[in-house]
Order: sequence, then C-alpha cells, then structure tokens
Amino acid sequence: MDLITTHANADFDALASMVAARKLYPGARLVLPGSQERAVREFMSLSEDLAKIEYERDVSLESVSRLIIVETRLAGRIGRMAQLVGKKGLEVHIYDHHPRTAEDIKAEKDVYKKTGATTTILAELIKKQEIKITPLEATIMALGIYEDTGSLTFPTTTMLDIDMVSYLVSEGADLNLVASYLKRELSDKELKLLAQLIQSTEIHIINSIHVAIAAATSEEYVEDLSLLAHKLEEAENYNVSFVMVQTKDKVQFIARSNLPFVDVAKIAGVFGGGGHHSAAGAVIKDMNLSEVRERLIDYLHSHIRPDIKAKDLISAKLPEAGPDEPVRRVRDKIAASGTEYAVIRERGSIAGIAAIKDLEKAISRGFGHSRIKGYMSGKIFPVKADTSVYAIQDIIYEKGVGCVPVFEGAKLLGAVTRSDLLRAFHARLFEEPRGKTSGRLYTLNLTSKIKRSFPKKMAELLKFIGRTADDMGFSAFAVGGFVRDLLLGVENLDIDIVIEGNAIEFAKRLAKELCGCYVHHKRFGTATVFFGGKFKIDVAMTRTEIYERPAALPTVKFGPIENDLFRRDFTINAMAFKLSRHGFGELLDPFKGRRDLKEGRIRALHDLSFVDDPTRIFRAVRFEQRFDFRIEPHTEDLIKKAVGLKMVDRTQKQRIREEMIAILSEEKPLKAVRRLAELNELRFVAPALKLTRPAAGLFDSVDEVLAWYDAVRLKRRHVLNRWLIYLGALLDGLDTAEVQKICDEFVFMKADCAKLMSYKRSADKALLFLSRKEKLRPSQIYDCLEGLSVEVLLLMMAKSGFQTARRRIMDYLTKYADIKLSVRGDDLTKKGIRPGPHFRQALKKTLHAKLDLKIKTKAEELDFAMRHFKS
Ligand code: ATP
Repeated sequence: MDLITTHANADFDALASMVAARKLYPGARLVLPGSQERAVREFMSLSEDLAKIEYERDVSLESVSRLIIVETRLAGRIGRMAQLVGKKGLEVHIYDHHPRTAEDIKAEKDVYKKTGATTTILAELIKKQEIKITPLEATIMALGIYEDTGSLTFPTTTMLDIDMVSYLVSEGADLNLVASYLKRELSDKELKLLAQLIQSTEIHIINSIHVAIAAATSEEYVEDLSLLAHKLEEAENYNVSFVMVQTKDKVQFIARSNLPFVDVAKIAGVFGGGGHHSAAGAVIKDMNLSEVRERLIDYLHSHIRPDIKAKDLISAKLPEAGPDEPVRRVRDKIAASGTEYAVIRERGSIAGIAAIKDLEKAISRGFGHSRIKGYMSGKIFPVKADTSVYAIQDIIYEKGVGCVPVFEGAKLLGAVTRSDLLRAFHARLFEEPRGKTSGRLYTLNLTSKIKRSFPKKMAELLKFIGRTADDMGFSAFAVGGFVRDLLLGVENLDIDIVIEGNAIEFAKRLAKELCGCYVHHKRFGTATVFFGGKFKIDVAMTRTEIYERPAALPTVKFGPIENDLFRRDFTINAMAFKLSRHGFGELLDPFKGRRDLKEGRIRALHDLSFVDDPTRIFRAVRFEQRFDFRIEPHTEDLIKKAVGLKMVDRTQKQRIREEMIAILSEEKPLKAVRRLAELNELRFVAPALKLTRPAAGLFDSVDEVLAWYDAVRLKRRHVLNRWLIYLGALLDGLDTAEVQKICDEFVFMKADCAKLMSYKRSADKALLFLSRKEKLRPSQIYDCLEGLSVEVLLLMMAKSGFQTARRRIMDYLTKYADIKLSVRGDDLTKKGIRPGPHFRQALKKTLHAKLDLKIKTKAEELDFAMRHFKS
C-alpha cells in the first residue's frame, strides 16, 4: 500500500501537497499525523469526506510498502509514520520545498525545488503529466500555494508559484473559497496574544541591523503562531523579526527576515528547528523564554553582519573642484563624470558637496559664473569604507543629504549616493529585463515624433515638466494612453505623468510654475494640475501594486518606473517616455507594446491580470474595438477563464459601472457591446441581459439620431451623456423593476437614474400618443414631452418606429422646447392679480396659446392671461 503523509500541525500547503501527491500516486491513502492548524481543521470538517483524508490513529501501518512524505523531510515531524522509516523493503519518496539538511530522512526519491510552496512542485508534475484534476482538488492546491506564499507576496514566491496558481484557476479553483479561508479572523485568545506580542516588542540594533524581538506567554500551545507573527510583521514592517511564546514546557519560536544576509533557517537551526531563508521556526523544549532571548541575541551579535559596506556601494568616483571655480565649470565636470555630485576641496580638506541639480538651477537663473562656494552644501557626513549599508541609509534619510563621502583613513574613496542605495536594496530592479522582455530597456527616442505630432507649446510643456522634476531631484515620465496614442498618431492631449519621487510636491510646484492650481486626490495619492483655463495634467507617483486578494483593490507602494509599468493592464498601455533633460523622449517599452501596437494586438502583461483586476476585461474589449485590434488568443483564454470563474462578481460594482460607461462613451459602441455579449460578460450587468436583435437595431438608430442632433442647429445645445442613451438602448428589453435594480446596485448618479427611469415609465405611452395620425397641436406635443431630458427624448426618437412620432420630437427639440413667455408673474401682480396657484395655470394656458401661434407679442400675452382670470 502507498501511504502519503506530511508534518504534524499541518497547514494548507501540507494538506494540499498530500491531495496533489495522490494524483501522482493513485490509490494511495492520505494520513495526517498529530493535530492540524485551526483553519485546516475547519476546512477538513467540511471537506474531509470529499478529500478522503484519514488520521494516524485510525490507520494500520503494517501493509505500507511505499511512504510518500510531503512538506517535510524530518522524521521527528511525521508522528507515528516515523516508525516506518528504515523498515526493510519500504520505499520512501519525498517532495519538499525546504532546503535539504543532514538530518533528513533518506529517501529513494527526493524532489526539492526552491518554490514558495511544496504544492507548487507537485502541481507542476501534475500539469506536465496532463493528469486531470477536479475543481475541489484545484481549489485545495490553490489554497496551499496562496497560504504559503502570503497570497504570492512573500519574498519566497517564485514565478513557478504564480504559474501554478494560474494553472489551478484554469482547472476550476474557486478563489472565493480560497479567500474566505485565508482571510480568517483572529479569535479573542489570538488577539490578546497579538496585543501581548506587540507590547513586548523590543528593537535591537545589532551590527546596524534593526531586529524586532517579541515575546509572550500562553497557557496552551499556540496552533497558528505563524499567522500572528505575520500580523505583527504586517503591522510594523520589520525587516527581521522573532516571535517567541512560552507555553507550559516549551517555547514556540518563529523567525522572519527579508534581508538577503539574515538567514533565519540557520538561526532556527540553532534551536533545533528549520525552514527557509526568510521564514523559519522551532519548538524549543529545554530552555525558557529569557534563555532563548539571550542565546538569540548572542548568536545575532556574532553571526549577523551586513555584507554590503560603504566601499561596495561606491559606483563612481566623484569629481573634485576648488571653492572658487565657477558653477558652470563644476556642473560640466559632474556631467562628464556621469555622477550627480562633486566634492569641493579647500586646502586639502573637504569644504562641501555640490549637487548637479542645484547647479542647473543656479545656471538657469543666470548664476553660471558665480563661485561654487555659494552653491555647495556644507553638510558633510563622512563615513568609513566599512560602514554598513544600514548606517548609510540612516544618514541619508535622517539628515536629508543626497550623498555621503567615503574615506579609507584620510583618503577619499568616493561617495555613496541615494541612487547607489536604491541599487543596493533593489538590485533586481536595475537588471536588464529578462526572458520575454529582453532587449534594451530604452528602445527608441521619440523626440522628433513629439515635435511632429504636437503643437510647439505642448512639446515645450513636456520638456518643462521634465526640467521641473529634475530640479526637485525627481524623474518624470509620460505614461499610458498618452504614449500609446502618440505612437498611433491619434490625438490625445490628456497628459498622464508619473514621478519617481513625491508626486504631490511636484504637482504643487508645477501648478505654481504654470500659474495654475492643483487638486490632490488623497484617496488615490494622485493630483491633477489645472492651468491656462482648460488644460489639465494628471500626476501620480510611480508605484508598485500588490494584489493581496483576487479582484480586491491592490495595496499601493512607491516603486520605480519599471514596477509602475508592470502594474498596468496591457502591453500597449505599459509604455512610458522620459521627460528629464538627460534622455528626453527615450521610450521605455519593457513588454513590447510598440510591436503589439503595430500588429494590432491587445495583450495582458501576465496570466493573473484578469484575476487581479477583472475590470480589465471590459478595458480589453474597449481598446480592441476602438482601434480595431484583436485580443490575442492567450489573453482571450485568460479572459474566458476569469469569466468562467465569475471574477467580475467579486469586483466593486461601481468600478464595473465606470468601465461600462467608458465602453458606452466610445463612438458607435455596439461593436464592443457585441463582443462583451460574445464573451458572456453582459450577465454581470444583469443576469437576464442579452444583446437581442431589436436592442442591436436600437443601437444603430441611436447612432443615427445622435448624428442628427450633432448636425442640427439648436438655440441651446445640451452637453449630452451619450453613454446614457446607449445604456437605455441596452436595457430596453428589461422591465422597470430590473432597471431600477441595476441603478441601485451599480450606484448610478441620482440624475442618471432619474433619466433612465423616466424613459422606462413615460416612453411607451408618450410614443403611442405621438404616433397618432390626426393632427396634434404644438401645445399637445409640448405637454407630452415637457420635463423629459434631451437624452430621453433622443432615445425615444431612436425607439420610435413611426416617422410621425420622430418628427414630432424633432419639432419639440428644435422649435417648442425653448419657447418662453415674455410676460412674467410681476406683470400680473401689477394688474392687481393676487399671486396663487391660479397664476401658474394662467401662465401655462398663455404659453399653450403662444405655442399654437394664437398670440405673439408681450401685450397679447398679458391680455390673454388677464382674459383667463376674468373668465
Ligand atoms: P483612454 O484613451 O480611454 O483615456 P487610457 O489608456 O488613457 O485610455 P485610462 O483609463 O485613462 O485609459 O488609464 C490610464 C492608464 O492607466 C492606462 O493607459 C493604463 O496604463 C492604466 N490603467 C487604467 N486602468 C487600469 C487597470 N484597470 N489596470 C491596470 N492599468 C490600468
């Protein structure tokens, strides 16, 4: 018999790995040792029968001929099954993502891969062997991967984990269920323990690394301590943290690190535990809390050393200058050296540091010939060659300096700048793009295209934006639809700017320089600059988005431009060009958006794109139809999978409303609506909604009617919500209650709902009346249509199959709607009439007479109204 097992206190990755292993060893029995984590127990209580999992106490081990162990290699962790290890004739297979150690069980087959979850390793084998899995199995496996990778956000997450989640979703994994188990609330006991941990947290600075140590006591064993450790880390954002809890006879120990040179697996190993480089744990039996703390601190002092030192960070030697040299010459020295700073020496010692951005500013204000002395900073914070990267980070951030000089004895080696630090911490972000996105990052310079495509003022404005950002020490880029349309040759004057730096400060400054104003959208951390009466520029910081749950709004953090492009929807919208002085116009196209533009393709940036944000489905359709492009097959597959998973149902309805409005605001939106219907997406607006032939015909009629409205000369032209007319056409087949429900669910603006509902309530009756063959007086037509919005009137025109009714609405819009009386209430009071309800009636009758051409002048109006009173 084959038996599959895992470690005691099984988490979802352990459980999921067992379920996955059974697909590779059909017929094997799944046996759980010891107890399980609380969330796993809850899950098992529902799906135990379906998943066919047994407990060690219920199973006889006699006939086991092959033992398959997942998620651990340690005999001490597999409960009773450890008795089998070493048994003659027993074959052992192991699948585990923990690094191998000397204590591991010896196995005939031992599969190790550096992944975020063990489930990932097994899922890959299942996929390769094309073994069929059920949606329940796919869901359990997805749960395993999501849990062990912190929903794909832990640093241990690999591309393979992400690929396997995508594969499992395509096999029917229910992410709703996944989210509901991962989101589990803390119990009262756990909350109390978390509070104890937070209060007890001590920060130790050990060899310039900040280390958090939290300790607490508990009556009983804490089942899910790693969850509490995660919450603590989430709350405080520690780089290295240790959580320990004293129970009756043991200390539970959890360690986390996101620094490359702090390997917590090694540290846990000191206490008899193990794990990964960034997450590890131990259960310590022979020490109490204070002994563990003491031993830990000792160990950290002797073993933890940041391996990056000041001397490793220096990227270029800074140029030097004397205090009396002119600003312009020093600027040129800096520019030639490819750095951003120069050291100013006076009689052998350093007198100051000059920054190129300050010198550029001085030159632009006419001080290029002044002495550098007045434009350097005297704030100097020298460091030694072996100062740690953390100590430098503290100086740069706390003292607000852009660079620190580095000395070896009396010799100046160079300096470490802000950019050097950024490079040290995020080295990967500065690598050349790999794999699919290989090639130089800057692929083309668009300067001449910008000159050709925009009015001169616009091109100058773009340069001005870049220079303003440079002066503030930031970098500015034009991004998104603006860049796409520039490459397509489509006019688009909506400038979208992202700033590597403080976008709000930048917007404030730009507004001031342009004599305009700015609005800070606090909720989104973005700003809009308004200037010259009618122009606007949207400004945001470059950001990284992390989707913690499918379809939820992402967490946003500052990140470099490359990350900002990666968070975007499609390759054609994920391009940017530089606005700074150096390299103005250079195109950043890491995902080959330009090629896709040329070849007419809408392509998502990664396989989880529509799971992360299902509103992108609507956007894909909108761009496909607008540019007459094609959603490429793989992206279409991803859309279909997201549709199959009803991802849109989990998205905020207001976001879908905005996307629907955007689609219906496109010119001739029928094509896009047809495509949505084809992708089965309309059901997310209303289950009963179909694009029927009459509804499609109505869209065509709305096109015609709008063309008429654009061409006709009206005294008073209304700004139309065209999308509302098309929405009315789309919803025409639904009854009033269904339309009301949509209005409520999608939270349409009150005025828009009122228009849709007035159409539903009045249109049929009014059209019936207006289609009558007999002659109608203008006042009758006026009475029938008065109070209806122009959108509703145009929709009624489109709806009317009868020319007569259409003609009469046109007459109303072009002739009657604007007819007003010259006589006013005052004129009547002057004639001795007392104001009251009869006033209105008299004026209405008079207006009818005017509409029907019975009276014309003000005197005739007054006379008519007075006669009404007399009668
Ligand atoms: P349009 O011409 O319709 O205004 P646009 O591309 O400018 O097209 P916006 O909705 O203004 O569209 O969005 C601006 C940019 O923001 C997009 O080009 C895209 O890079 C990014 N973006 C917008 N919505 C999303 C989304 N849901 N997911 C990812 N990126 C998005």
